[in-house]
Amino acid sequence: MFEQDTPRHDARHRVVIVGGGVAGLDLAGALARDTGLAVTLIDLATAHVWKPMLHSIAAGTRASAGVEVPYVAQARRHGFTYAAGPALDIDRAARTVHVDRFVLHGRDLLPERRIAYDTLVLAVGSVAAPFGVEGVEAHARHIDTLIEAQNFQADLLPRLVEAAHAGRQLRIAIVGGGATGVQFAAELLQMADIAGGYGLNDSRATLDVTLVDRGPRLLPAFPETVSAAARARLEGLGVHVRTDVKVVAVDEQGLRLDDGAIPADMTVWAAGVQAAPLAKSLTSLTQDQSGRLCIDRHCRSVDDPAIFAIGDCASLTPQGEERPLPPTAQIAYQQAVYLGRHLPAMLAGKEAPPFRHRDFGALVKLGEYDGYADLGKFGISSGVIRGRLARLGHEMLYRRHQMRLHGRAAVLRLWLADRLTSSIRPDDRVAKGD
Ligand SMILES: Cc1cc2nc3c(=O)[nH]c(=O)nc-3n(C[C@H](O)[C@H](O)[C@H](O)COP(=O)(O)OP(=O)(O)OC[C@H]3O[C@@H](n4cnc5c(N)ncnc54)[C@H](O)[C@@H]3O)c2cc1C
Repeated sequence: MFEQDTPRHDARHRVVIVGGGVAGLDLAGALARDTGLAVTLIDLATAHVWKPMLHSIAAGTRASAGVEVPYVAQARRHGFTYAAGPALDIDRAARTVHVDRFVLHGRDLLPERRIAYDTLVLAVGSVAAPFGVEGVEAHARHIDTLIEAQNFQADLLPRLVEAAHAGRQLRIAIVGGGATGVQFAAELLQMADIAGGYGLNDSRATLDVTLVDRGPRLLPAFPETVSAAARARLEGLGVHVRTDVKVVAVDEQGLRLDDGAIPADMTVWAAGVQAAPLAKSLTSLTQDQSGRLCIDRHCRSVDDPAIFAIGDCASLTPQGEERPLPPTAQIAYQQAVYLGRHLPAMLAGKEAPPFRHRDFGALVKLGEYDGYADLGKFGISSGVIRGRLARLGHEMLYRRHQMRLHGRAAVLRLWLADRLTSSIRPDDRVAKGD
């Protein structure tokens, strides 16, 4: 096995970040740009995508090509090293990360190797949780990664066309009534509307979407008024919403419930959250019930001072609260900003202020149909805004992320380019399927 390291003449402190998602890629750029640290970013993929877009990529309402950020380009631009391949394990005694071969289009491009670190930051994110339900792995689709979203989309469109031509419905069941499931249901309907515009007759009537949750309402993290409004909106669009439903198994026929069944041609599992497999496998580090790594108020592992964890794979319960912070892009972003700012001082043995989470409320977007923003945490009495403004807020989260990755001027140009492209080109996502 290869040893991969920063060159011997380079005496800089080696920070290795595993996971180039919302948190990890932001942090890699910040540390490489603004500090004298030698930064290496390991990711199993070749390009980063803003994960809150995956449901629209899966539905086919957004093309992934225009939003992918290649890691090599980002590394070159900001001055960090990109190491491609899935991290398999960590040797805490030797301070190395074991990275598997990197295979692209069936070819071995990089060998299995060990990458040495002085400080390790884990930012590997999360995946949906099957809760021990039988058949989830074998029969349900996930939309947790770009590949999964692209695969779903590639399968969805031909099936929709076949169903329309055969005069039958394409039945899709989504398990999980949180933000991912709710937003995905709306994007599917929007995709059907777009397909209708391309001459696919009755595309909306062909698509039969059922959204189920075991709880009493959708969007449990939002105020009840938002849950009720989102449900009414989805039902108005034609989605069958079923709450208080217990799924006991998933099979070729769809969902088996404790008191019946929901037939489906495609099942998407968007319920629950657990740490990504690498984080879960690190059992020598303290984890919470979801396998997320327990960190202190400086985002450092409670067990190992050389290891930090941020984003969805990290579990931090703020002082005075009972539950850990939720796995959201907002928190991943804030933790990346925090470590980018304070890690160099911490490594130099200086005192750093503790991480403080700022709650900017929650946003959910129902395609182009509607949106809700819960601003209660700001002390705004009415609490919730709805419609275009809320959808704009959702867009702004992404633009802020882009700004961190590319800089303010580049984001303005990207935004202008997006506007121009959408105004002069036909809406060809569904036709091209890319
Ligand atoms: C469909 C969907 C919609 C969402 N919508 C919203 C939303 O509207 N608002 C919101 O706040 N949050 C939303 N979320 C949640 C949000 O995306 C996450 O909270 C956020 O992405 C967490 O950031 P992260 O950096 O911790 O992980 P991620 O962004 O998931 O990044 C993890 C990275 O680690 C890499 N990785 C994983 N394992 C390995 C390994 N073994 N080796 C190497 N690399 C590895 C992955 O390739 C990935 O690049 C949504 C999530 C999904 C799935």
